[in-house]
This record gives sequence, C-alpha cells and structure tokens, in this order.
Amino acid sequence: SLTIGIVGLPNVGKSTLFNALTKNDVLAANYPFATIEPNVGVVGVPDPRLQQLADIFGSQRLLPATVDFVDIAGIVRGASEGEGLGNKFLANIRESDAICQVIRAFKDENVVHVDGKVSPKDDIETINTELILADLQTIEKVLPRLAKESRIKKDIGPKVAAVEAAKEILERGDTLFSQGVVQGSEKAELLHDLHLLTSKPFLYVFNVDEDELTDESFKDEQRALVAPAEAIFLNAKLEADLAELDEADALELLESVGAEEPGLAILARVGFATLGLQTYLTAGPKESRAWTIPQGATAPEAAGVIHTDFQKGFIKAEVISFADLLEAGSVAEARSKGKARMEGKEYVMQDGDVVEFRFNV
Ligand code: GDP
Repeated sequence: SLTIGIVGLPNVGKSTLFNALTKNDVLAANYPFATIEPNVGVVGVPDPRLQQLADIFGSQRLLPATVDFVDIAGIVRGASEGEGLGNKFLANIRESDAICQVIRAFKDENVVHVDGKVSPKDDIETINTELILADLQTIEKVLPRLAKESRIKKDIGPKVAAVEAAKEILERGDTLFSQGVVQGSEKAELLHDLHLLTSKPFLYVFNVDEDELTDESFKDEQRALVAPAEAIFLNAKLEADLAELDEADALELLESVGAEEPGLAILARVGFATLGLQTYLTAGPKESRAWTIPQGATAPEAAGVIHTDFQKGFIKAEVISFADLLEAGSVAEARSKGKARMEGKEYVMQDGDVVEFRFNV
C-alpha cells in the first residue's frame, strides 16, 4: 500500500506525533538522532458515514480505510551530502509515496532547536533545500547518460527537455511539487524513472502551541508558506494525551482547546487525499467498510480491491450515493425511489458510493 514519510528537523515533535499515531511507546527523546529505524504506523481514516451505514444495515463492526505513515529519521542540514543519517534518510524517503514535513512552531525553552531559533519558514527552507539538492544530484548523474543516448535514440528529445526543465526549477530553489510537476501528473510522467524526491506530493504538519490552534491569522501565514501543499495544525503533546483517553474525556480535552476533532483525524484524512486516494463503501449485517481506491478508478478496478475474481468476473455494480441512501433509509427504499443505479465497466467511482458488485465466478 501507499505510504507517507514523516520527516522534519530533530526536536520538532516527530516522535511524539508518531507515538500518538501508533499509540506505541517509542522513546520520545529530547535530542537529535533519537529515532533511527523507520517505523510504520497504520492509522484509520475517520469516517462518520460508517456508523450511519451500520445503523441502517445493523453492521456488527466498522472497518475504516487506513493510511500508512513511516517515521523517517535523520534529516539535518547536509543530509544530501550524507551528513547525519543522510543516505539512509534519502533512501527511505524515496520509498515513500508522499512527504509529510513536521514543522516546529511551538515555543519551549527546554526543547533545543538545532538552529537555535523557532522559525517555520527557515526550517521549511532547510528541509526543502536538502531535498532539492538531492534531486539536482540525481539529475547531474542522469544528464550525461541521456546526452549519450540521444545520439542513438531519436525519440528521447522530450525526456531530455523535461529533465532540463526540472533542473531549472530546482536551481531556482523551488520544489518540483510546488511547480505542479507532481508524481502521477502528465508533467512528471517523463521523469518517473528518476524517482525525484520533490515531485512527490507534500503536506505539512505544524506542531503549534495550544493557543495557536485557534489563531486564524497565524495559521493563514503558515498556509501561505506551503501552498499548494495542505497545512495541518496540531499540538503533538496534546495528540499524545488524546490517544490515551477514552472518547468522552478526549472530547472534553478537545473542547477545552477549541478544537472539534483530533489533529490526527485531520492528518489521516488529508494524508489519504494527498496520496490521491478515495473510498467507496460496502455495508451489510457483518460490517460496514470503506475500501481504498485511487481517485479515478473504474468500477471493475474497485471490485478488484475486494477480490481479483470480482474484477475478472465483473458484470455490473449497483451504486447508491451515500447521501441518497441516508435519505432513503434503506436499500429497498432507495431502489423504489430510483436512486440505485446499475453501472457498467466504464463507470468511474465517486467518493462515498455505496456499492454491491455483480460478478461471474
Ligand atoms: P523529534 O526529534 O522530532 O522526534 O522530536 P520529539 O518528538 O522527540 O520531541 C522533542 C521534544 O519536544 C520532546 O521533549 C517533546 O516532549 C517535546 N515536544 C514535542 N511536541 C511538543 C509540543 O507540541 N510542545 C512542547 N512544548 N513540546 C513538545
């Protein structure tokens, strides 16, 4: 499955956040290089529709979609030159499908900042510079080989041009992502085999003090720094506390800081979308479940996520939009109102489709 790599300078709260994500007890140490082995945290994507479906179908359990977060250690200034755990860092990040940067905005004299001061803007620049330098190294290595190849292969011109264009963006100090050259897009297609780091989708987690959670003008400033990437604001320590509490106490704690839901819930949802994923829903007495598909997946592809045989033997899908089903109150009522559609092989799945597949075995 697709993974999101969590990166950030030392002491910004990555371990604290990751612990909250996994509810594990990894040591959150107050010094650089504390986290060395990458760890994976599998997090449920909260989806209130599942409970509503369960109420309609009498489902015994709810199965949300999940996102995989990988805790990647070792970014410091000079990582692209192999400083710190540089090379391992780059290899781990190359394997991730999206990059989640954790940025420190909280002020705490007891927690040392590697560069001596808390500055989200500077920290973002430090991290992006390392990623940009790593990509430029990749390109410098590839260009001479492409030049040689171009003497034999006539059709390689567009690829050389794409690499040159990427180089220009990077030399300006921009990430490829920020210029729309993002994995999966047409612009990035010819660069695919270079596995460039800055063409992965980015998202940013600002680890803020509790009073900044509701400070809209502060948040707008940070959002402007990272657009077009999404920005999420949370307090990692608060998230760690929330992860230990039962639902009622957690709600009370959230209310006390003016938040409606845990930052981790937002992170899971935004992370899921950043990976280019969406869900469709199935429901029955046994379970209500959200299934993960790429945005733009067709009905047979969606069926294949449940079982490859469903895809091979796909006949059609009975689809009711979640809103229609909720309004009708039952599948039978939705059908009689004409809200149940029979969709064929070409149908592109929409988020929140409630589906039953018909297939040959
Ligand atoms: P990492 O090096 O990025 O993994 O950072 P850690 O999660 O180990 O956190 C470094 C230190 O900062 C620890 O002492 C944490 O308790 C503390 N810390 C983490 N998040 C917050 C926060 O939101 N507010 C404050 N005041 N301290 C935090």
